[in-house]
Amino acid sequence: MLIDSPTRQATITHATLVKRARETLAYKPADVSPQRRIQRRYTMRHWSVRHARLLEWVYARLSSVFLALHPFWNAIGYGRVETPVKFVERRVKGLMFDCRMCGECILSSTGMSCPMNCPKQLRNGPCGGVRSNGNCEVEPDMPCVWVKAWEGAQTMRGSEAIFDVQKAVDQSLRESSAWLRVTAQAARERDATGNRAA
Ligand code: SF4
Repeated sequence: MLIDSPTRQATITHATLVKRARETLAYKPADVSPQRRIQRRYTMRHWSVRHARLLEWVYARLSSVFLALHPFWNAIGYGRVETPVKFVERRVKGLMFDCRMCGECILSSTGMSCPMNCPKQLRNGPCGGVRSNGNCEVEPDMPCVWVKAWEGAQTMRGSEAIFDVQKAVDQSLRESSAWLRVTAQAARERDATGNRAA
């Protein structure tokens, strides 16, 4: 019988214990979790974090363009443009951030590291299981998205936004366009400010 030394026991994570307790079957999935099977590569995601400052600038310009186009979206109808905009948003953000289309994008507060890639989907910082090498407790080969978020945030102008407390994600917005929602919100605020000033 193999008895772990106290030092070795201290390094055993909950994920390891769950893995050991798992029954052994003839069928072994190619990878350890559905999430990991999808996320084989983190290259682009990490590039985005390294270039968070540049992407912050690009996002600000993109938001201005979308806001300037608000009369156009309004004339056509936000509902009608949703499908093509979502098509582009899903592909662009999917490629760059491994976006899960949560509908409530907080990339500008998280150093361009999408918190929905955390296996526990934590939106207010890491859990207590970050490994000593900065990797995830659940996905040992994946750097913790919150460690990356901190790195990215340090390079951004709005670096303090990472301290904002995020409310629980509104699941009813899943698969909707964050770009259009933010634009419509900004247009409403701009109009309200204009009306007050008039
Ligand atoms: S926070 Fe939501 S919308 Fe933004 S990249 Fe992540 S899943 Fe996509």
